[in-house]
Amino acid sequence: MKNIYSTPFYANIIKNLEIAGMVNDTKNATIQRLKFPKRCIVVSIPVRMDSGEIKIFDGYRVQHSQTLGPFKGGIRFHKGVNLAEVVSLASLMTLKNSLLGLPLGGAKGGVAVEPKNLSRGELERLTRGFTSAIGPFIGPDKDIPAPDVGTDSQTMAWMLDTYSTESGFSQTGIVTGKPLAIGGSKGREAATGLGVVLNIQKVLEKQNKSAEESSLAIQGFGKVGMHAAIEAHKIGLKVVSISDISTALYDANGLNIPELVGFVKKKNLLKDYDSAKQINNDELLTLPVDILAPCALDGVINSDNMDKIKAKIIVEGANGPTTSKASSYLFKEKKVIIIPDILANGGGVIVSYFEWVQDIVWLFWSEEEVKSKLKMIIDRCFDRVWDCAKKHSVDIRTAAIATALKRLEKAMLLRGQI
Ligand code: NAD
Repeated sequence: MKNIYSTPFYANIIKNLEIAGMVNDTKNATIQRLKFPKRCIVVSIPVRMDSGEIKIFDGYRVQHSQTLGPFKGGIRFHKGVNLAEVVSLASLMTLKNSLLGLPLGGAKGGVAVEPKNLSRGELERLTRGFTSAIGPFIGPDKDIPAPDVGTDSQTMAWMLDTYSTESGFSQTGIVTGKPLAIGGSKGREAATGLGVVLNIQKVLEKQNKSAEESSLAIQGFGKVGMHAAIEAHKIGLKVVSISDISTALYDANGLNIPELVGFVKKKNLLKDYDSAKQINNDELLTLPVDILAPCALDGVINSDNMDKIKAKIIVEGANGPTTSKASSYLFKEKKVIIIPDILANGGGVIVSYFEWVQDIVWLFWSEEEVKSKLKMIIDRCFDRVWDCAKKHSVDIRTAAIATALKRLEKAMLLRGQI
């Protein structure tokens, strides 16, 4: 077990927890409890491949904390998934859900697989096998999965169907991020990207700057990055660079986002788009832009490139994109404002929470209702965190974690957990 807690990603999270704990005198017992997940479920999933051969995949569900409510967090399908990564991501979910004021705990799951190498049938059998394997531990009142890297609304539909079939009746509240036709919420698909842009608007507002005079580079053009680009384009922000796994595109005058969205939705990679200059993914991170939104992977802003970062605002659409060392350097030496993952990408889990509530009461909201409630929560959290940062003269990440810790500690004390 020991080595799952000794990765750089987890070490960053622990370091951030300890620093934030000092801001408002969080008890040592609270920090110690949050350093370890409640439960780690490790499963093997045998899948019959199209060739007839049986292949075994490794799957994980880490349930970090249920102090504030049922476990909640996404499912990642990626070749790099391992228990240590899932533990780190699950602990971030506990902090995120606490910060956002949701009645939910934190969890994360994943399967070590490159989904693009599997046929649709293989992917369906893998998803169903994984759902069966973790089935006894999840449930609408226990643990509610959602999409993450490499999974989508179709994955959620297969999970819902498998869980419902095995329990004998339809349970739409078992997952969020599912298609509208089977109990999904309006606005869920765009929610994380919209949340990223709502956070950008809040920082600009605090600095008396307008969207029209600002430029933005986005790493990753998947569920988060693409919708961040769409929403940014809508408010007049100049999106000068985007990227996917194949390449990055750059146009100082602003990229044609609607055209690029159409292009990528036809299953194209950005390297095949020829109406903009291509740069590499590392260059995107160091472009002379006002705002940088890493929306792909963890650890991309680190000791190797921190001194080359030119953006004065970083909004973390991805989970854990900035290492603890880079975060502290950018704040202290370059006065960069970093809106941390647990606040910046919170739009996804906020609308997942709305979806779960709608499924419980069988009453569905309009897109406007979803968006206005999402904005209300993000604006409120942003202001609370911003004020905490100013009050204690700390960076926004520390203030966000400190705010999350306060709520968790209160609940832990009341429940007699510490
Ligand atoms: P996704 O699989 O939909 O998209 C990932 C994107 O990153 C793709 O465009 C992919 O091509 C690109 N990418 C992959 N490897 C890359 C590389 N080496 N360099 C540059 N780009 C690369 O995943 P997503 O759901 O958009 O998630 C992205 C991040 O946001 C993850 O950290 C995830 O945990 C986080 N997140 C997602 C949600 C959500 O609702 N989907 C919510 C909160 C946080």
